[in-house]
Amino acid sequence: MTVESAPARQQSSPTEVLVRTGHQCYVPNYKPREIVLDRGEGSRVWDLDGNEYIDLGTGISVNSLGHRHPSLLAALAAQSERLWHTSNIYFTEPPVLLAQELVAATFADRVFFCNSGGEANEAAIKLVRKYSSLSHPPDKREIISFEGSFHGRTLAAVTATAQPKYHEGFEPLPAGFRYCPFNDFDAIEQLISAQTCAVLVEPVQGEGGITSAAPGFLAHLRSLCDRHQALLVFDEVQSGMGRTGRLFAHEWDDVTPDVMTVAKALGCGIPIGAMLAREEVAAALTLGTHGSTFGGNPLACAVARVALREIRTPALLANVHAQGEVFRQRLHRIGERTGLFREIRGRGLMIGAELVDNFAGKAGEIMEQCRRHGVLILQAGPDVLRFLPPLNINDADLALGLERLESALVDYTA
Ligand code: PLP
Repeated sequence: MTVESAPARQQSSPTEVLVRTGHQCYVPNYKPREIVLDRGEGSRVWDLDGNEYIDLGTGISVNSLGHRHPSLLAALAAQSERLWHTSNIYFTEPPVLLAQELVAATFADRVFFCNSGGEANEAAIKLVRKYSSLSHPPDKREIISFEGSFHGRTLAAVTATAQPKYHEGFEPLPAGFRYCPFNDFDAIEQLISAQTCAVLVEPVQGEGGITSAAPGFLAHLRSLCDRHQALLVFDEVQSGMGRTGRLFAHEWDDVTPDVMTVAKALGCGIPIGAMLAREEVAAALTLGTHGSTFGGNPLACAVARVALREIRTPALLANVHAQGEVFRQRLHRIGERTGLFREIRGRGLMIGAELVDNFAGKAGEIMEQCRRHGVLILQAGPDVLRFLPPLNINDADLALGLERLESALVDYTA
């Protein structure tokens, strides 16, 4: 197929050519905004036409240390000079040390590496089923997840994602998934049973609208899982790695899972996912039962080691608290000025602003308006503006980002 004719190329800017080519050649599952991002530095990115943006979305909670962080660059450069890939047929240093460091930083005893959040959840789903197959009767295989959740796009992870819009057309879905209203203490108590092998939950729902587990809800799940001999799995793909001001969001509740999934900011921009589990549960993934060619890739793990080290520092986590407060206060002010927000929620630098009824469904349009004002934000569904800035954003960049955000929203509502 010819994707670009010679005369058209002469008349078009590089941005126009790339946008048109992307539209022609990509499977149409995305609708990217019609700009081409070209480079980044700290909390700022620039498009091919030279326009600057403050990045308050970090590629959906990924670039948590901003763009071109010097320590990440150095780790990537050093490892790229040594060894890129071997597969899991051999040991290499970066994944072994990263596994050790993740174990030291969490409840977990063992780690499985993969490449994304969806894969990490797929691994968790397989693990809990396998564990149950080894220790429980054959009818104890059900997995309960929560309405509004998002766990990824592989067939099992999307089935666990309790939002019908993600299921349509992909039926028949894998069996054995049950859905419960989020934060409904009674409903989960009714639903969990001897057939439940695991409960899968995001401590803060991200795609579902930045909705935190209600106080006591994770502890409630823990005690129900214990009572029914089910495993508790936390999906910290979005909420983890310092995003809420603790290394993992569930630490706020002081509740320990049996299994946890991590991805996104673990690599700060390099694809990596991980499933962490305690010893007895991890033991179920016996030789040959699961795997991934790229899982534990030395380049990704070398970068992730530095990301983990940098994100865990008290100074970084303190910045998340401090800038999160500044952000929330400003959003309240913007809300008062524009009348846009029904509620501002979230923790640390994981922030959602739900639109009032008059603006319901407009989150995508508002996101584009912000883009035109030089600030990149996200939506979480049609009714919630979502903000996931770099965890190390400094005062000046945050002030400028908020200034642009305010002017975009004031203009939008004028
Ligand atoms: N789990 C959660 C909580 C997520 O937010 C996401 C992605 O947004 C995923 C899983 C899927 O991750 P990935 O897109 O890396 O497969």
